[in-house]
Amino acid sequence: ILLPIDENHDQVKSNIKNVVFSEVTPRPLERNIRLVCASEDALKNILDMDPDIVNREEFTEFVAGKKLPYGALPVAHRYGGHQYGSWVGQLGDGRAHILGEYVNRRGERWQIQLKGSGQTPYARVHDGRAVLRSVIREMVACEACHSLGIPTIRAAGVVVSDEAVIRDIYYNGNPRRERAAVLLRLAPSWFRFGSLEILSKSGELTVLRQLVDFIIKEYFPDIQLTDENRVIRLFSEIAHRTLDLVAKWQGLGFTHGLLNTDNMSLLGLTLDYGPFGFVDSYDAGYVANCSDGEGRYALGKQPDVVVWNVGQLAIALKPLLTLSQQVHMSYILKTLDTYCKNKILETFLMKIGLKEERWGDEQLVEKLLDMMQRTGADFTFTFRQLAELKPSEMVCEDILEDKWSLKRLSSHASWSCWLEQYRERLDKEAVNASSASLFEDERRRRMLSVNPVYIPRNWLLQEAIVDAEKDDFQKVKFLLEVMRNPYEVQPEAERRGFSAQPPQWAYALKISCST
Ligand code: AMP
Ligand code: MG
Ligand code: MG
Repeated sequence: ILLPIDENHDQVKSNIKNVVFSEVTPRPLERNIRLVCASEDALKNILDMDPDIVNREEFTEFVAGKKLPYGALPVAHRYGGHQYGSWVGQLGDGRAHILGEYVNRRGERWQIQLKGSGQTPYARVHDGRAVLRSVIREMVACEACHSLGIPTIRAAGVVVSDEAVIRDIYYNGNPRRERAAVLLRLAPSWFRFGSLEILSKSGELTVLRQLVDFIIKEYFPDIQLTDENRVIRLFSEIAHRTLDLVAKWQGLGFTHGLLNTDNMSLLGLTLDYGPFGFVDSYDAGYVANCSDGEGRYALGKQPDVVVWNVGQLAIALKPLLTLSQQVHMSYILKTLDTYCKNKILETFLMKIGLKEERWGDEQLVEKLLDMMQRTGADFTFTFRQLAELKPSEMVCEDILEDKWSLKRLSSHASWSCWLEQYRERLDKEAVNASSASLFEDERRRRMLSVNPVYIPRNWLLQEAIVDAEKDDFQKVKFLLEVMRNPYEVQPEAERRGFSAQPPQWAYALKISCST
């Protein structure tokens, strides 16, 4: 399943069979390479590196693809995918190199990957590069999602160069010249739904079986290789992990933007951050990716589209199943919508401080979201501010003055009615607590731990990127620093307006999928 380097001829560029990886050497960044930023946490706790390593030339050269670690065998992975709902055939790592696996001090296994490190046999017509802007976005988002508690791939560092790259992002009608950068990414595994789909769709069933068993053996130790129902168990585990992930996304307003099956991790991790966005003003119809004209990947559609993607994974695995197993699989598929809905409801109940679900809770959450949608209240700040105030304070005009998002929400005609229902609901939950004030403390604690103050908003990223394009990396570094503790109020971030109402231009920002 490894295609040696001297067999990576043109044929691979269109379609090749019975291959999972192609051996390929990175084409390093050469011109004036500089380290933009690094994740101290990833370096220390994943790669066992002294964070001071960022001051060494050697580290910059490593991220740039110039110096490979001892024992590395760079490969590009072959996969396929459904893009915007259509099967597009073979894709593969067009600009990423997996260097190998590192077993760290804690015994965890992490695959080291460079992204933007040159063309691979899967590059098709593309240049194998990644631009600084998109690499910074992925870097910050990976590390932020990790701190926010969203399962994700990780990112350890970014190197930029003076190598020019042309992208079709139009400013005043002109294609823009940008600079090439490389991102050092880390994941336990880079396998995607599309890794299995390509084998299944092309009838490579022996390799499909082999890869499925490999994945079970390496990443799903709770499933026995001798179990004749192992493929069903694997599918069920992946399906549920993936939907747990979606519930996390919905709870934090994270919109992936490009939920093609080639961007769906088999381990239930957030993968391939491109035109993503954390919603500012709540809008279920929020589309992060301006190339997504139909809004297929809108915030509110993520649960459905991910269930659809899981359905594609099921189709890919079908040839490995007996008839009765196929019946079992379709039964699991039928339960997924409800499973996902319940997970999301559970997530939102936690966000308003409720642990057990009771009759009427779903409407309580729906009503809140509806008021947010209609008033343009900020998704993140509204929940945070709901946590910061006592319900009795939420009707006081002068107290609300300091809580701009809640204030906006309170302009809705149904606000006081909703608040009344919320207070009644809290009273029911409080009956088990020894006193009302203890319960209020408990509610507050619960809510502060799941409702962040900081998310990597597009406008914050944009400001950091504008400076980074001018070789000033302070804002990127600061943003990374703040996102290490997104649930804690940080004075310097407050001073810089991270909790203020986003500037007007923030709402007009468009993120293309040209990366
Ligand atoms: P995406 O839609 O960004 O997940 O990427 C889809 C496919 O296009 C993947 O196979 C990528 O590796 C490939 N790709 C995207 N941009 C480039 C590029 N600049 N060079 C080579 N391959 C690319
Ligand atoms: Mg991708
Ligand atoms: Mg991409």
